[in-house]
Amino acid sequence: MERNFTWHDILKRMKDDACPICTLVRDRSESKLDVLQYQHVSDVEFRKNFLDTKGFCQHHTERFYAHGDALNHAIVYAHLLEVELNRHKKNKKSKEKATCMLCEGENKSETIYLNIFKKAYHEDDFRQAYEKDGIVCMQHFKTLLKNMKRHPYVKHFESSTLQKLEARLHELKEIKRKNDHKAASERLTTKEKTTWQSIRKLLIDQGEHRR
Ligand SMILES: [Zn+2]
Ligand SMILES: [Zn+2]
Repeated sequence: MERNFTWHDILKRMKDDACPICTLVRDRSESKLDVLQYQHVSDVEFRKNFLDTKGFCQHHTERFYAHGDALNHAIVYAHLLEVELNRHKKNKKSKEKATCMLCEGENKSETIYLNIFKKAYHEDDFRQAYEKDGIVCMQHFKTLLKNMKRHPYVKHFESSTLQKLEARLHELKEIKRKNDHKAASERLTTKEKTTWQSIRKLLIDQGEHRR
């Protein structure tokens, strides 16, 4: 397959002790928010969409706030508030909440990244890199297993992932054991220290906020 930017990006992210699909979706969404601040808040098309969808979902509203400033909040929310107040004055029903633009983008890019992962898994170097360093979250593990049903390397993907998840479980159990007063002198290993800090991201569905 063509080794595009995303192919290389997934491969590079395998060293991060995180699901490359989740981090890619998140990072691309964050860069969209960055661009939004500087270019699109005053864009007519964007503002129409923003009104039609009644702003972002709660998660992206908070992300927009974290990236934003007084001016871009004034631009988009003055517009939304004005429309809402007019509706109220005219006794018009408020529109139903529609899809959040950024969630929609996340759903689309997630599908693309999963497809690239699945195709790339045919290639020896990609597969070996995954076997050596890669891991995916539970959610994407299940989705990829379903998508890769007839893939020649589905068993390889399954066993490589399970092996790492079992290793994480062992590390978590070790932390519990070492916390016991009988083992109080035993220090946490570097792996155990990173595992307790990253495990939550492998177990929650990071797309749960999407509407
Ligand atoms: Zn994931
Ligand atoms: Zn959203």
